Amino acid sequence: MIGKIVKGIAGFYYIHVPDKGVYECKARGIFRNQKIKPYIGDNVKIAVLDEKEKLGNVLEILPRKNSLVRPTVANIDQAVIVFAVENPKPSFNLLDRFLVMAQRQEVNPIICFNKIDTLSKEDVNAIKDVYSNTGYHIMLTSAVEEIGISPLKDILFNKTTVFAGPSGVGKSSILNLIQSEEILETGEVSHKIKRGKHTTRHASLLAFHKDSYVVDTPGFSSLFIEDMEKEELKDYFIEFQRYKDGCKFGGCNHISEPKCAVKKAVQDGEISESRYNSYTLLYEELKDIRRW
Ligand code: GDP
Ligand code: ZN
Repeated sequence: MIGKIVKGIAGFYYIHVPDKGVYECKARGIFRNQKIKPYIGDNVKIAVLDEKEKLGNVLEILPRKNSLVRPTVANIDQAVIVFAVENPKPSFNLLDRFLVMAQRQEVNPIICFNKIDTLSKEDVNAIKDVYSNTGYHIMLTSAVEEIGISPLKDILFNKTTVFAGPSGVGKSSILNLIQSEEILETGEVSHKIKRGKHTTRHASLLAFHKDSYVVDTPGFSSLFIEDMEKEELKDYFIEFQRYKDGCKFGGCNHISEPKCAVKKAVQDGEISESRYNSYTLLYEELKDIRRW
């Protein structure tokens, strides 16, 4: 049987199998055969030892698509990057960092501007407009007034999603709303997990619908970009891709090269200045990182 690790406590792994429930498993075979540590989010093959008690053994970890370090989670499809439109005001540079980090881990980013109840429609749209030419999916929500929550739920469907963003923007409030109705099988998870309450808190996956999971701990807590060649950065500013073929030089970094189509698009207002400024700032930062 194939399932997904939703929680790990003190040597036990809790495997969610759609339509079946959650199995409490040990993973001795894995350490013997694969010599890798199972992560939350891993898809695993299990042998059921007791169907009634829902006990089993993890036999094998299936190949990972990707993994995050903090929190440690595997097979993340997408990141909902939450910023508030006000209180705290969004830092676009920080948001751009989150976008770079997500794409770098092959996690599809979705931008969510929360607390739209605190600003006028015009002011919210002005914030949204900074990103409207990027091509990223943008959601507008208010956790307090429960606006935009149902479209947000729709994009979680059949995916494993991590929420990210600075503190105070409303991530937990949104997660609470998402969980309130839809969680199907957590009852069983929390029932079993009570036994391990004393252990330190690790991330876990909340399972809902059939094959949809949300990481209960915010991701991308470290946004220090290292190990990246500055030339790689431009690939993560997706709206640049539309213009780069028009640059005079093949490997144009869109910084100081003449006849740069990306810079022209900024001048023409087709690429937002805020985005381009973030790009040059991050580019300079990467240039300054000393390499040995
Ligand atoms: P987190 O740190 O990102 O998890 O943020 P929280 O969910 O803890 O929210 C931080 C504060 O913002 C709390 O006081 C929430 O009540 C408030 N908050 C969250 N969402 C909204 C919203 O949509 N509108 C308003 N006005 N306040 C919100
Ligand atoms: Zn260029």
